[in-house]
Amino acid sequence: MAGCAVCGKPIDERGEKCSGCGAPLHRECAKKILGKFYCKGCLKEGKRQARYERMRQWGPPGR
Ligand SMILES: [Zn+2]
Ligand SMILES: [Zn+2]
Repeated sequence: MAGCAVCGKPIDERGEKCSGCGAPLHRECAKKILGKFYCKGCLKEGKRQARYERMRQWGPPGR
């Protein structure tokens, strides 16, 4: 079984999966954004998507 993408240690059945790349993560190692878990590498993308999602909820700018 693959180890955690953040700390490299093996994961038991209570692990999470990164919403970006699907890599296995510990719950305490994953970063949670808008209810989704992300690894270190996908954290930037997750934050960008969260911002984009918020912008979409507010509606397009300049109207
Ligand atoms: Zn870990
Ligand atoms: Zn990832």
